[in-house]
Amino acid sequence: MAKRLIFLGPPGAGKGTQAKRLAELMEIPHISTGEILRSAIALGTPLGTQAKKYVDAGELVPDELMLDLIGERLAQPDAQKGWILDGFPRNVEQAEFLDKLLVELQQQVDCVLSLKVPDEVLVARLLGRGRKDDSEETIRRRLEVYREQTAPVNDFYQERRFLSVVDGDRAPEAVTAALRELVEA
Ligand code: AMP
Repeated sequence: MAKRLIFLGPPGAGKGTQAKRLAELMEIPHISTGEILRSAIALGTPLGTQAKKYVDAGELVPDELMLDLIGERLAQPDAQKGWILDGFPRNVEQAEFLDKLLVELQQQVDCVLSLKVPDEVLVARLLGRGRKDDSEETIRRRLEVYREQTAPVNDFYQERRFLSVVDGDRAPEAVTAALRELVEA
């Protein structure tokens, strides 16, 4: 069974929900960089203070902050048995960094799951979610940032034959079942 998974997909695709479910089923940590940042912002830590303006604007937080964050998180004891990454890597530089980091840690990605959902469904879902960075303007910017910077990460993993694309425009239970089948294969 796959133990080290990456979740890709635009904002609103259901990455967080699905990654959480799979992580529970597989008893491995769900590592969401967005959640780590939101909690750092709420606590007012130095990371949170530096990251806040980017998160609020729907921009990516600079790599110099994100690379340290992921390096530290994957070195934690609970991450040695496996993990699901949700929200990282968010651009090709982060994907290249992760490749090198995993060589150092003597780990490898088992599978990259990419959730596909039509744009109009994404916007409707994000508007209904009501998170602090879900204003209409920020949503528009997050989708743009996804297209410009994050979508190329799909190609990065496709070229390395890790990518599995899953239809995310279905009932959450149906998506979970499809993902399980891939992960357990
Ligand atoms: P998410 O919860 O994954 O939708 O992330 C919410 C926000 O956190 C994003 O819009 C970015 O501002 C920031 N963020 C999360 N992960 C990353 C990352 N890997 N690199 C840069 N910024 C990130």
